[in-house]
Amino acid sequence: TQRLTGPMAQLANIVDWYQNAKASGKRICGLMDVPVRIEDTPNAIALDDVDGRLEYDDVTFGYDSGGGDAAATETVLDGVDIEVQPGETVAIVGPTGAGKSTVAKLLLRLYDVSDGAIRVDGHDVRDVRLADLRSSIGYVSQDTFLFDGTIAENIRYGRFDADREDVVEAAEAAEAHGFIQGLSEGYDTRVGERGVKLSGGQRQRVAIARTVLQDPEILLLDEATSAVDTETEYLIQRSLDRLAADRTTLVIAHRLSTVKDADTIVVLDDGRVVERGTHEDLLAADGLYADLWGVQAGEIESLPEEFLAGASD
Ligand code: ATP
Repeated sequence: TQRLTGPMAQLANIVDWYQNAKASGKRICGLMDVPVRIEDTPNAIALDDVDGRLEYDDVTFGYDSGGGDAAATETVLDGVDIEVQPGETVAIVGPTGAGKSTVAKLLLRLYDVSDGAIRVDGHDVRDVRLADLRSSIGYVSQDTFLFDGTIAENIRYGRFDADREDVVEAAEAAEAHGFIQGLSEGYDTRVGERGVKLSGGQRQRVAIARTVLQDPEILLLDEATSAVDTETEYLIQRSLDRLAADRTTLVIAHRLSTVKDADTIVVLDDGRVVERGTHEDLLAADGLYADLWGVQAGEIESLPEEFLAGASD
């Protein structure tokens, strides 16, 4: 696997470079991260038997600066349409600051849209019980919150009635069992603020194990931004592929290496959808995606197919 490090590292640099170049022209906005209080509406409906159909319908959004001054709100998403059919995988790509993570935050209802609507199985997310919405979505990111407690407790957070055997099985599926066994007290090792500090890749695998237990209808993946080694990337990708199979999946892709097999790739630039299609469609279209991906076409083609598919042993 060592020989993959060179071209992949180079590709990552090029993509970073491109993204930084794109981003440097953007205004820096000093807005604070103060979500509006999101609550259930008085007649919020239950979300039962979720099929997992997702729909962003002409979604416009800007983070509120809190001053009540409309002019202080910069539009971050502008008329965005995205559809994900049950079981499909849709990837969101685009330069830094394009609004990719915001797409994820709106699905979780950390914020509400300014205009348009987001629907799950045809229900506007603002009309369903927040607890039902969030329990139907498995959210995996490197920023996963670990509370003060043992590794086992942190994994069990995905399903509180899980027993030790379930926890270990989930950790195995998440390719986390190996590193957990290497910790001083295994599954009983304390993590979190006052415990062992885990690396980004390890936290992500704890998040995956949690999500395996949660068994949600919808998977929301906010891909890692910080570098993990090639071996860890394999492990993470393999467990994510298993988790995403037959599940509605929305991938927020900060790097391009994992999106090739998505049913649809949505390309965001400056809050707008500028292209959408399969990897092949978008390469043929020779637009922003092709730019992001193709700068190093020679390098990409020299990679083994199974690495790009992320399913190699
Ligand atoms: P990256 O690839 O760098 O993670 P991204 O495409 O995920 O970027 P977002 O994180 O969605 O982009 O950010 C889109 C825009 O919204 C950026 O201009 C960013 O500065 C702004 N933004 C993000 N979060 C907040 C916030 N909490 N308050 C105010 N502005 C924000």
